[in-house]
Amino acid sequence: QLLVVLKNYVTGFPKETDMEVVTTKITLKVPESSNDGILLKNLCLSCDPYMRGCMNKHDRPSYVDSFTPGKPIMGNGVSKVLDSRNPNFKPGDLVWGMTGWEEYSLIKSPQLFFKIEHSDVPLSYYTGILGMPGLTAYAGFYEVGAPKKGERVFVSAASGAVGQLVGQFAKLTGCYIVGSAGSKEKVDLLKNKLGFDEAFNYKEEEELDAALRRCFPEGIDIYFENVGGKMLDAVLLNMRIHGRIPVCGMISQYNLQHPKGVHNMFCLISKRIRMEGFLVVDFCHVYPKYVEWILPHIKEGKVTYVEDIAEGLESAPSALVGLFSGHNFGKQLVVVARE
Ligand code: NDP
Repeated sequence: QLLVVLKNYVTGFPKETDMEVVTTKITLKVPESSNDGILLKNLCLSCDPYMRGCMNKHDRPSYVDSFTPGKPIMGNGVSKVLDSRNPNFKPGDLVWGMTGWEEYSLIKSPQLFFKIEHSDVPLSYYTGILGMPGLTAYAGFYEVGAPKKGERVFVSAASGAVGQLVGQFAKLTGCYIVGSAGSKEKVDLLKNKLGFDEAFNYKEEEELDAALRRCFPEGIDIYFENVGGKMLDAVLLNMRIHGRIPVCGMISQYNLQHPKGVHNMFCLISKRIRMEGFLVVDFCHVYPKYVEWILPHIKEGKVTYVEDIAEGLESAPSALVGLFSGHNFGKQLVVVARE
């Protein structure tokens, strides 16, 4: 079978050549000695920015484990159960959870898998809107951001897996929503298809502060933080008193040796801003409530989800690396096999 392995730990920007597509042999059966193993055929694999952190050699505690050089990349995926010695899963079940970047994965202990109960929506959605990024947007916006109708919301990396949902959730809540993204096509998507009130291309703005002042003459109540660095610095100047900043991610910092770009932290004090980091893994208990809420929105067309689908395992390294240059247009995923 084909698999994608990490060649070596990475410093700086990741490159396609940091990974390698190789072939190995696999027995398509769960060993008899296993009590609860499952064998999966992987269908879709998710590309997520946190995976960059797994390419570091960790010399201090981190919330993610490093990948092991020579072993397959691990990430969220949608899979079909082929064989099972686990009472919770049977052959034919569709599941999503932490799997390998390979055609088939033997999962020794499948605690981190959810069974897919609703297959009348695209299966790939379980890497996005019905998976980890969806829950991230929901928990970060509603539970951490605590939005109120009429508030002014800003989200960066707004056309991506998480950002496009934050924007649509803000609109459903009756907020004024502005997003930033890195190309004209992405800005058009936000304004014309996803219902954002305003959007701007941060790469074309001479002064981020001026762009934010233009879009938010009365200031920002909630900034859903995805990028960090210069954008965060400019946002701090434009926050309203008692504003909130759910800190979801800081992708502009992931490939740097030393964080840079933020000088205006004193605004946290002068404006009494609440800035709170969060991790989606702490909100797994909210997942059933989220699915119940979002499914009718999807089926009734009240929320749309834009995906960028790469075909075949061989395309996975470039799809993952592309996240760090904004190559993806919507949620990046890789289709490995149709059912
Ligand atoms: P996206 O689908 O948004 O893809 C990443 C995007 O980030 C790119 O398309 C690019 O868009 C933008 N980007 C890349 N480099 C930079 C840069 N240097 N400066 C500004 N923007 C940049 O990813 P996700 O929606 O999956 O993730 C968004 C954020 O949420 C990330 O920071 C991620 O780490 C975080 N996250 C956190 C979770 C948590 O539990 N806290 C869970 C899931 C995600 P553009 O073209 O617009 O620049």
